[in-house]
Amino acid sequence: EEDPRINGIKTKIRVVPDFPKKGIMFQDITTVLLDPKAFKDTIDLFVERYRDKNISVVAGIEARGFLFGPPIALAIGAKFVPLRKPKKLPGETIFEEYELEYGNDRLEMHVGAVEAGDRALVVDDLIATGGTLCAAINLLERVGAEVVECACVIELPELKEANLDAGESGNHDKVYQ
Ligand code: AMP
Repeated sequence: EEDPRINGIKTKIRVVPDFPKKGIMFQDITTVLLDPKAFKDTIDLFVERYRDKNISVVAGIEARGFLFGPPIALAIGAKFVPLRKPKKLPGETIFEEYELEYGNDRLEMHVGAVEAGDRALVVDDLIATGGTLCAAINLLERVGAEVVECACVIELPELKEANLDAGESGNHDKVYQ
C-alpha cells in the first residue's frame, strides 16, 4: 500500500514540457521545496526508510541531490559528501564519466571523504536512465564503500516500463526510492 504522503508530494512536482530542450518533460522539484509539508514529508519518508540501516555516508549528486541529501544525512546521523560536476572541488579528486538524457558529464569526489567500509546512501532528485547513479556508485565502490541503496524522489515512468519489459520485479514506489 502506498503511503498517503506520496500523493501529496506528487501534486507539488511541476512538470515543464520541452525544458531544457524539446522533448524533455522536466520534473521540477523546486515547487516541492516551496511547500514545507511536502518537503518535510519527502525527507521523512527517506529518514524512516534509512534510519536503521547503519548508513555512515550520504552522497548527494550535484545539484538537486544537494537539496535532499543533507537533511537526510543530519536526521540519520551520517556524514554528507557532495558528488560534483567537473572542477568544483578544490581538493584531490577521482572522477567517473556518464551520459545524461541531455548530454555528457562527469562526477567528481574528494579523495578521503569516503573511506573503505563506509556504508553509503546515494541521493538525487530523479532517475531517468540511471547513468548518473551508476557513476556515483562506481565512485563510492572504487574507494571501498558499500552502496546500500540509491534514493531518488522521482522515477520517470519510461524507465519503470523499460525495467518491467526487462523482466524486473517492478518493486518501485511511485514517488520515492
Ligand atoms: P539519468 O542519469 O539518465 O538517470 O538522469 C538523471 C539525472 O538527470 C538527474 O540528476 C536528474 O536531475 C536529471 N534529469 C534527467 N532527466 C530529467 C527530467 N526529465 N527532469 C528533471 N531532471 C532530469
